Amino acid sequence: MSECRNCGRSELHDLGPIGQVQPFFLKRVFGLEIRAPRSPNALKQKIRDIAAIPMSFFSQVTGRFAFVEMQLCEHCFFIQTKVPFHDDDIMHLYADYRSPSYNGERIRYEPEYASIAAAIGQDQSEVRTRRSALTAFLGRVLRTSYSDAILDYGGADGRFIPDIPGTKFVYEISSMEPIPGVTRLTSESELGTYSIVLLAHVTEHVTHPLKLVRKLGTYVKPGGYLYVETPQEISDQQRVELQNSASRLELGIHEHINYYCTPAVRSLLEAARLDVVAIEDEVVDLGWTTSVHIRALGRKPLTA
Ligand SMILES: [Zn+2]
Repeated sequence: MSECRNCGRSELHDLGPIGQVQPFFLKRVFGLEIRAPRSPNALKQKIRDIAAIPMSFFSQVTGRFAFVEMQLCEHCFFIQTKVPFHDDDIMHLYADYRSPSYNGERIRYEPEYASIAAAIGQDQSEVRTRRSALTAFLGRVLRTSYSDAILDYGGADGRFIPDIPGTKFVYEISSMEPIPGVTRLTSESELGTYSIVLLAHVTEHVTHPLKLVRKLGTYVKPGGYLYVETPQEISDQQRVELQNSASRLELGIHEHINYYCTPAVRSLLEAARLDVVAIEDEVVDLGWTTSVHIRALGRKPLTA
């Protein structure tokens, strides 16, 4: 039986094949390309090539995509693919994430990526905006100014860790060097327990966010905090229209395979037995784009 991979419930509403899988994702994750087959017979191939000219012209205008079935959870409004991807396959997207080989291959599939490749995750205004917003949020909602150790899970080189006291660690599988003052851990066996664990811009990328958040809960000290930040890419209104079949919206499947909203983030924390201390959303200007970010802080009970 299928279940919501965000909250664990099983009331799922089928949205139909509206998940538009981007060609770069197909190539990287499954080694798949969409094109017309070639004939082993030279004459037949020649005829096919001639016949295909209008079609290839047409496909350049409209594009051709593979679509996957999507589901919306009627409990938390999380949107997921009906058939889950495997994380081992998804990881093919990130092996050389944002390195020259990654950017080169992606630009072959998405020429428009060239203009933003250098900016994503590097743009100083994105770093400043995300870090200062998180520092301000924690300043408002943390019930203590004390933190002994902070872990940013999947946190690149640690540049997004907020400006609060405490020893700073990043768990990162790519080979990125950490910034000064941050220690990089590369194996889960090196992880300990922390007063704050940060999970920013990860849950929209993974197949089973609830499994990940439950696991991260074990790295949080009793009374400590788990912070989740994720974008909201379609509005609450668009979500209602999808649910009522009153929309022709198609949802891109690329780096992001899940679609979040505030109730989904709240349910994710609650399903992992964390108390939601604060949750908010805000439109943020990242320099290369504007986006709505949902921020939430969950607290691990002192006694399990
Ligand atoms: Zn759900």
